[in-house]
Amino acid sequence: MESMNKEVLFSREIIDRRVRELAEEISGDYAGGEPIVVGVLKGAFIFMADLIRSLRIPCKVDFMQLASYGSGTVSSGEVVIKKDMGLPIAGKDVLIVEDIVDTGLTLSFLVKALQDRAPRSLKVCVFLDKKMRRKIPFAADYTGFTIDDGFVVGYGLDFNEQARFLSDVYIIKA
Ligand code: 5GP
Repeated sequence: MESMNKEVLFSREIIDRRVRELAEEISGDYAGGEPIVVGVLKGAFIFMADLIRSLRIPCKVDFMQLASYGSGTVSSGEVVIKKDMGLPIAGKDVLIVEDIVDTGLTLSFLVKALQDRAPRSLKVCVFLDKKMRRKIPFAADYTGFTIDDGFVVGYGLDFNEQARFLSDVYIIKA
């Protein structure tokens, strides 16, 4: 961890402000409702915890964990559900909360998997979007920040399980 060469990309203050803005937007869009917020483990857990505490609407919470077969930090597109959510979502408003959309493969898989369960609505909120790296088209409904290529850690995001606990988002330097 100490040997990781990195610099701050988004400070805690900047993140807090943006997360509150997202929560405002989401609260307005779901006014009068009670969405099921589904966090994708593990990377989204801190973002989701902050986001739902800034909502002005009630919500229910669940989690899923996905596994993607690939080497290291590159996902292959072969995604499987490692831990499924427990709540039934048929006829419900569902908001997926994910840490990063990169190639788009993981979220495309998840959206399709949950769409098959016939929710009333299904939207996606991502903390970070690496728009330039898409392998397949994917557009999130809510995006915290758009970033260029590069590997980021902190605020729930890890590098080999390190650095998740950090409050700021860092970019790894070569
Ligand atoms: P996708 O299927 O969109 O390529 O993969 C998205 C997943 O790859 C994210 O959920 C995240 O787990 C991982 N990922 C992509 N870029 C980064 C990054 O810069 N840092 C970290 N920690 N994970 C990343």
